[in-house]
Amino acid sequence: MEITGLPAHDESGWGQLAFEALCIAAAPALIVLAGSRLLSTDVSWSWHILSAVVCGCLFADFGSGLVHWFADTWFQESMPVLGRRLLRPFRIHHVNPDDLARRKFIDCNGDVAMVCDLVLIAIAGIPLDNFAGQWWYAMLGTSAVAALPTNQIHQWAHMPKPPRLVEWLQDCGVILSRAAHQRHHAPPYVEHYCITTGWMNRPLSAIQFFRRMETLITAVTGLEPRQDDTRFERAHA
Ligand SMILES: [Zn+2]
Ligand SMILES: [Zn+2]
Repeated sequence: MEITGLPAHDESGWGQLAFEALCIAAAPALIVLAGSRLLSTDVSWSWHILSAVVCGCLFADFGSGLVHWFADTWFQESMPVLGRRLLRPFRIHHVNPDDLARRKFIDCNGDVAMVCDLVLIAIAGIPLDNFAGQWWYAMLGTSAVAALPTNQIHQWAHMPKPPRLVEWLQDCGVILSRAAHQRHHAPPYVEHYCITTGWMNRPLSAIQFFRRMETLITAVTGLEPRQDDTRFERAHA
């Protein structure tokens, strides 16, 4: 759908919206189930669970950056299934960032909720009778909870006037701020991919994590990064 002349995100059908609503509604139930399993286990609430929670928060932000970087950098938005569903929204977001603010709550948050639900279901298979199992369970569970509002936080970072509490959380650096996210929205869009808390952006930039990954992938596969993103942007300039 194009209202402004710029490409816009696909309108979701009723079936897709119903599925996304189900994924969002299931998330609190799965969080309670996952939390109660840990609480009913004989875990010692020591530094190792605390470190797992901290790592989970960092991992959620890192995961948001990894998915964002992958979608921005590789393959064509015209490829089957993955192209339309995952890659094209990222292409559109670079040339028409304001379109994100138009998306309604379910449409905005459904896909991320589905991924978080799958993680919360998968961790049910982790045994909790040993130290390592407890750590991974707490880390992955925390990362799923922390990642759940990722696209909502991203949408708020594009709003000139988000809700006051959200603005306060942005100012405190608890979640991604508008100013921090604008560092990504400058061609060629190669900085600050992380969009949950934004805490991992500086460390990853400092070690040139994504550039090194691109060099490695190009060396192994011969693929050039951002070819499709550059083509898409030129086509809609
Ligand atoms: Zn991007
Ligand atoms: Zn953005």
